[in-house]
Amino acid sequence: MKLPSRLQALLVGSVLLLQGCILPAPMISSPPSTEPQQGQEASPQPPEAAPASLSTPPTPEPKPETERPGSTAEPAADGATRLAKIRPLPAAIPPLSAEQNQEVQRTCERIAEKLASVSLDDCLALDLRPSGYYSRQKTPILIREFPPLPGRTPLGRVLLIGGVHGDELTSISSVFKWLHTLKRYHSGMFHWSTTPLLNPDGALRRKATRTNANGVDLNRNLPTPNWHRLSSNYWVKTTGRDPRRFPGDDPGSEPETQWLINEIEQFRPDVIVSVHAPHGIVDYDAQDRRVAPHRIGILYRDFLGTYPGSLGNYGGIHKRIPVVTLELPHAYVMPTPGQISRMWVDLVSWLRRNVANVRRARLGPEVDPLTGQGMGK
Ligand SMILES: [Zn+2]
Repeated sequence: MKLPSRLQALLVGSVLLLQGCILPAPMISSPPSTEPQQGQEASPQPPEAAPASLSTPPTPEPKPETERPGSTAEPAADGATRLAKIRPLPAAIPPLSAEQNQEVQRTCERIAEKLASVSLDDCLALDLRPSGYYSRQKTPILIREFPPLPGRTPLGRVLLIGGVHGDELTSISSVFKWLHTLKRYHSGMFHWSTTPLLNPDGALRRKATRTNANGVDLNRNLPTPNWHRLSSNYWVKTTGRDPRRFPGDDPGSEPETQWLINEIEQFRPDVIVSVHAPHGIVDYDAQDRRVAPHRIGILYRDFLGTYPGSLGNYGGIHKRIPVVTLELPHAYVMPTPGQISRMWVDLVSWLRRNVANVRRARLGPEVDPLTGQGMGK
C-alpha cells in the first residue's frame, strides 16, 4: 500500500521523535523560515536538529558556488587555578556597538557577494558578533555562540569552525546552513561556539586562496610539539615547499590561528568540528579513535592522518580534544539541502552519544569546569 506522502512524513517523524531526534510533528511541519514559537526551544527534551527530510525548505537546489571560485604552551592541569582564565557564561549578551554593527554588516556584505548560497539576509539573521580578533587584513572573525539554556545542563561543549581554508567555499556555506538550523532548533543539548569563516582574507579575495593574506596555511600553523623542526621538515621534504601549505615562520604566528588557540583555551570544547573540502570523508583525530564516527551523512570515515601544526594534531592529539573533520565532496559545489541536513542530523546524533564519554575519558569526573556543576545529566 502506498501511503500519502504527508502520512509517510508523519510516520518517519514519529520514529525519529521516539529516538529523540526531532521536534514533535506539529513543529516540524511549519516552514523553517518561520521563527520558532515561544517555548519551543525550552521544551523538556528538544533536539538540536530537525529531521533531514523536513528541516530544509522545499526550495530548488541552491545555485552551485561556481560563479566566483576565482578561481604553545602545554595546557595547565584542569583545576581551580585555570578557572579564572575561562570566560564567564554568556548569561546576558550585550548589544553590539554601532561600530561593531558596522563591522558585521560590512563583513556580511562581502560574504554574501562571494557565496551564492549565503545572502546578506542569511548572514545578518544569524546575529554574528565580532570576536575581537581580526584577520591579517583587518576583517573581523565573526562568531556566534549558542549558550546553555535555562533548565537544561548541556551534554558538552562543541566548537564548530568553517572556512579554515579560504578556497573551500562550501565549508563556509554549509556552516552557515547549520547555524541557521541551530538558531531555529537550539535546544540546549550542547553549548556551541561557532565561526563560519576563520579565514576571511583567503575566502573573500577575488580569487579565493587556501592560505591567509600572509600566505600561511592556518591548518599548519597551530603550535604542536616540536613545531619548528617538524613543520619545516614536512613542508620542505614532503610538500616540496608547496606555497599552499606554508606553515608560517612561527607557530601561532597568524591572528586567525591565535583566535583558534584562544578559543580552545577559553571555551574549552569537548569536541571540535572543523569543516573542509573536497575529500568527501569524515576524519577523526583523537588519542582514542574507537568512537570515531563511521558515517556522517554522505561522508564515510577515512583517517587522513595528522600534520605538524594541523588542528587534528593540535586539538585531537596534543590537547586531547577530539577533532571531527568533515571533508565535503566539493569545494565549490554545495551538497544538496537534503545532504546538508542529513550530515547535521548524523553529527548531532554522534555528539549526543559520545560527547559525555570523550569528556570523561579526558577529564575524569563529570564536573563542568565552567560552572563547577555536574554535567551530562
Ligand atoms: Zn581544508
